[in-house]
Amino acid sequence: MQEKVVVLALYEALNARDVDTVHKILAGDLEWWFHGPPTHQFLMSLLTGASSDDYFRFEFDPLSVTTFGSIVIVEGCDNSRSTSWVHAWTVVDGIITQVREYLNTSLTVARLGNSTPSTPSDYNPSPSSSAAEVTTLHCPSVWESSSSNRVGKSVPGVSKTKKIWEEIREKHNKVLWHKVVWFPLHIPKASVITWMAILDRLPTRAKLSQMGIPTDGLCIFCNEEIETRDHLFADCNFAKTLWKSILQLTQLQMSWEVRLDWPCREWKAKSLISTVMKPAWNTYIYLIWKERNRRIFQNRTRDVDQLLKNIKKFVRIQLIGRNINRLDDVNASLCNYWGID
Ligand SMILES: [Zn+2]
Repeated sequence: MQEKVVVLALYEALNARDVDTVHKILAGDLEWWFHGPPTHQFLMSLLTGASSDDYFRFEFDPLSVTTFGSIVIVEGCDNSRSTSWVHAWTVVDGIITQVREYLNTSLTVARLGNSTPSTPSDYNPSPSSSAAEVTTLHCPSVWESSSSNRVGKSVPGVSKTKKIWEEIREKHNKVLWHKVVWFPLHIPKASVITWMAILDRLPTRAKLSQMGIPTDGLCIFCNEEIETRDHLFADCNFAKTLWKSILQLTQLQMSWEVRLDWPCREWKAKSLISTVMKPAWNTYIYLIWKERNRRIFQNRTRDVDQLLKNIKKFVRIQLIGRNINRLDDVNASLCNYWGID
């Protein structure tokens, strides 16, 4: 029952664009899987804040919720009934660790192996071709989508239904970068964007082109290169200049590496420098993404200095009330450069 409450709370937070609550409910290393037309990744756009664009306006209105132990399957369709969706969430200790998203697809969840089936709370058997297919494979169907019928048109079935349950049950190891994104002083909205950047799930122009959405594909900052994740956050001169300014404030002598092994390796310690660099790095990613969206959607522009000022402010706020040993020379100059009182 608790699992169901957690999932419903997430939909409320998503529809309210309440990023803080979304972050509290989702695991930092959430495993996300999508099946459907690439232009329909509404859940992703909500999680990344791209929902400010009208193109991405979408509300998730759950029509049915079914719980199998730690797995909560929710289905619904949009107001115009043109899009049906099914989400299979995995909830562990009150936190969502996995989601599988299926759009405009009739879906059957089958049980594999010898595990004892738990009884679905509102299982409604309505045989379909995909259910028949599963039964012949000796995988009894435990759940079937029905909102595709509500939408009232035929939708393609998932051909590998027998695999879904197995996939849903998969366990994944915690990823290395968990601690540089979801650290104690993290800034939720910045962490969400950084997390999506690491997974390369931000809707960059390169991504949008791949999805068939018309765009010239060029970076909004330089208008020269294709806007990929790596270009936007590492290779573009705008990003390079901003990152260089951050390193100067920290007196670090190292070049930018988009690969995460550097922050993962270097920022483990509880030193002031790693305490500063983690939020600095997250807000750096976040503010570049935000600035990119401002330029594209609002035609408003800020320069590197203004973004740097914002990053310093974010970092200072995170460090308020922290006990800092200022007798240490490195700490003293860090406080000086970052304006930490
Ligand atoms: Zn560029």
